[in-house]
Amino acid sequence: MRGMMMDRPLRVADILTYSEEIHGTAGIVSSTVEGDIHRESYAEMAARCRRLAKALRTMGIGPGDRVATLAWNGYRHMELYFGIPGIGAVCHTLNPRMSPEQLAYIVSHADDRVVFLDLTFVPLVEKLRSRLPDRLRYVILADAASMPRTSLANVHCYEELLASEDDDFGWPDFDEDTAAGLCYTSGTTGVPKGALYTHRSLVLHSLIVGVSMQNSLRAGRRLLPVVPLFHANAWGAAHAAPLTGTSLIMPGPGLDGPSLWNLMETEKVFAAWGVPTVWLGLLEEIGKRGRKPAGLEEVVIGGAAAATSLIKGFEDLGVSVCHAWGMTEMSPIGTLGFLSPEQTSLPARERLRLKSTQGRRAFMIDLKVVDGEGRRQPNDGEATGELFVRGPTVVSAYFNNEEASAAAFDGEGWFSTGDVASISSDGFLNIRDRSKDLIKSGGEWISSLDVENLAMAHPHVANCAVIALPHPKWGERPVLVAVPSVDRPEPDGIRAYLEERLPKWQVPDDIILVEELPLTATGKVSKLTLRQIYADHKLP
Ligand code: ADP
Repeated sequence: MRGMMMDRPLRVADILTYSEEIHGTAGIVSSTVEGDIHRESYAEMAARCRRLAKALRTMGIGPGDRVATLAWNGYRHMELYFGIPGIGAVCHTLNPRMSPEQLAYIVSHADDRVVFLDLTFVPLVEKLRSRLPDRLRYVILADAASMPRTSLANVHCYEELLASEDDDFGWPDFDEDTAAGLCYTSGTTGVPKGALYTHRSLVLHSLIVGVSMQNSLRAGRRLLPVVPLFHANAWGAAHAAPLTGTSLIMPGPGLDGPSLWNLMETEKVFAAWGVPTVWLGLLEEIGKRGRKPAGLEEVVIGGAAAATSLIKGFEDLGVSVCHAWGMTEMSPIGTLGFLSPEQTSLPARERLRLKSTQGRRAFMIDLKVVDGEGRRQPNDGEATGELFVRGPTVVSAYFNNEEASAAAFDGEGWFSTGDVASISSDGFLNIRDRSKDLIKSGGEWISSLDVENLAMAHPHVANCAVIALPHPKWGERPVLVAVPSVDRPEPDGIRAYLEERLPKWQVPDDIILVEELPLTATGKVSKLTLRQIYADHKLP
C-alpha cells in the first residue's frame, strides 16, 4: 500500500527562504578581500539572492547551465551558492589552488558559461585567458568603486548586476534530482573528476550534517569554516548553517594562524572546521599568545588524518575535537568522531584513542570493508581492506566521465573510496591509508598514517609525512619527511623514539628535515609531490 503524503520536491532555495523567515537575524560576517569586515543577515542574503537570480536570467543563464565561482569564503560566494541553483542552474565551485592546466581543463570539461571571481583571482584568470573559451563571461565580486583594470573581455561588476534588478522573485519549481552543484576532486589521484550534486542530495546532506553537528550548528552559534566553499560545500556548512540559524564567520583569504586567532577572538567564534595543517598553525599561535581565542569550544578536523597529538593539543585547552572523514564524492561527510554519552566518561587515554579514529557513520551512509577478492570483512576492528560506501549523498557516477565512473563502483553499486580501513564492532572507522600511499615493504604493508601519527607525538616534530621510496631488496621502504619544531633537532633522537615504539621493519629508513611540506589544492600535505621530489633520493 502506498502512503498518502504530498510529493514536494526538495530544493536548495527552500533552505534560503526558511532561513530568511526563521533565522533572519543570524547571518554572515565576512573578512573581505578588500580588507574590511562585512555583515549581512540571512534575511538580507535571501533578498540579494533573489536579485542575483534575476540578474542571472537577464544574462541568459537558464536551467542546467554551469556557472563557476572562483572565490574565498565570504557573503557573495554564499549568495552564489543559493542564487545559481535556485534558478535550476549549476553552481560550479572552482578551486583556485589548482594548477592553471587543471583549471583550464575543468572549466572546459564543465562547459562553464560564466565565472564569478574575487578581485584576488583576476590576475590568475588573466593568465589563463588564452586557454579559456572565448564566449566565457566574467563577473567580478566587487562594487563599482573596487573594479580593477583588466585585460579580460566580457567583464561585469557583481554589485552593479544586483543593483540593476529588484528582489521581487519567486523560486521556480523543478524535479529534486535536478543538478545543483558541481565540485571536482583535486586530482591528487589523476585527472580531476566532477561530483554533480542534486537539490535532493544537498538538502539531505544539510539535514544530515545539521543533526550530526549539534555543537557547531545551532541557532545563535557562530561557526568559522576555514574549509573553503570550493572544497565540497565547506563540508556542508554552506547549507546547514542558514538552515539551523548558525552564523558564519568567513575568513576570506586569511587562513594563517594569527589571522584566524584574531578573527575568532573578535567575532567570538564557537566552532571552527578545517584540515589538520590549518589547526597546526592555529595551535602554534595559541602557544605564542598563551591562550585560546575566547569562546572557542569545538574544532572539527577532517580532510586528512588528524594526529593524536593534534587532537590532544586542542582537548588540553578545553576545545572539544570532532575528527571527521569524507570525500568530495560524498558531499562530503561520511563519518564523525562524536562519542556516545557512555564513551564520554571513559578514561582520558581511551577517549583520545576513540577520537583519533575517523568516528562513526553519518545517518544514511553505509560503510563496508572488502578484501582483495571483494569479500566483505567483519567489523571486528582487525580486518583491513578497501572501504566502500553508499547512500543518497554519494555520487552515482562522475560528471561526463564514463571511464572513471565505470571504475568507481562495485557490482552491487557501492562507491569505492580508495581508502584502506577497518571498522570496529561498535562502528568506529579506522582509516589506515589511502591505497596509493600504503607502503609495501618485503610483502608487508606499512600504514603511512600510523607512522606519521607516532612521529607527530615527538616534541621536535611540528608536521610530517611518511612516503614510500623504491628499494632494490624490499620493494619499497618508508621515509619520514619532517618539519622540525625546534632549531636544531636530532634526526637520531626522532629515530630512537620511533624505534622504541614501532616494529623494526616499520621504522623509516631515512629522516629528512625540511622547512615546509608541499600542500595539495585542498590544503593537505601532498605525498604525490613529496614522492616526485624524493624520487632519486638515495636511501642510507
Ligand atoms: P581531495 O582528494 O580532492 O583532496 P577529498 O576531500 O575528496 O579531496 O579527499 C578525500 C580523501 O581524503 C579521503 O578519501 C581520504 O583519503 C582523505 N581523508 C579525508 N578525511 C580524512 C580523515 N579524517 N582521515 C584520514 N583521511 C581522510
